[in-house]
Amino acid sequence: MNVTPIGIWGGYPNKNEATSSFLIEQEGFRCLVDCGSGVLAAVQNYTSLNELDAVIISHYHADHIADIGVLQHAAMVGMQLKEWNVPLLIYGHDRDRPEFEKLSYKGVTEGRSVRAEETLQLGPWEVTFCETIHPVYCLALRFSSKGKTVVFTADTEWKEELVGFSEGADLLVAESNLYEKYIGIIKGHMSGKQAGELAQRAGAKHLLLTHLPQYGNVKEIEEAAAGAFRGGVEIARIGHTYNV
Ligand SMILES: [Zn+2]
Repeated sequence: MNVTPIGIWGGYPNKNEATSSFLIEQEGFRCLVDCGSGVLAAVQNYTSLNELDAVIISHYHADHIADIGVLQHAAMVGMQLKEWNVPLLIYGHDRDRPEFEKLSYKGVTEGRSVRAEETLQLGPWEVTFCETIHPVYCLALRFSSKGKTVVFTADTEWKEELVGFSEGADLLVAESNLYEKYIGIIKGHMSGKQAGELAQRAGAKHLLLTHLPQYGNVKEIEEAAAGAFRGGVEIARIGHTYNV
């Protein structure tokens, strides 16, 4: 499977960029993982919108859903022009009922609920979930197909259960929103060192860092992760295709 970073920022996008989001593709099936601010513009560098087969949302914070509304407009215009195979399926948990219901729009997009304890068959993948520790209910995502695995931690502070959930990941995409000094001060996120420890203990092969802060020098986060993980680690490169 191919994973392409669309954006890497937490909270809000940096100038001309997008919040944390990834395009995952295999056998021609394309799924967008999270759809926050700036994502709809940026993802079109890598795919036509009408070639998206699905979208999956980890949780309902604005930096993960802000562009859902404009994606729905694109689907509506595409339908009017008969260029779009609708409805586009948008997967997300339904613990927040009003937010989940917004995933369905005028027959052009359709919300589908996912649950932490259930396995989702999505295109070529089996997708499993793990509840994270975050101010709102949030799910980490594990995509598996043909013996290969990509794990997205989504937004979370350190949670021991994520070690088993990420076990053996060929690619671990971990949030690392914090400089080390903010552990315990800013809740709901991990530091670079914690992302590195997660990758190390899970036996992941490669670690990508995302959901980064706009302040400070993010190279420090990368170095903290590299100090805790013996495998390959880097800040996710926007537009680079990681083949697993
Ligand atoms: Zn969040």
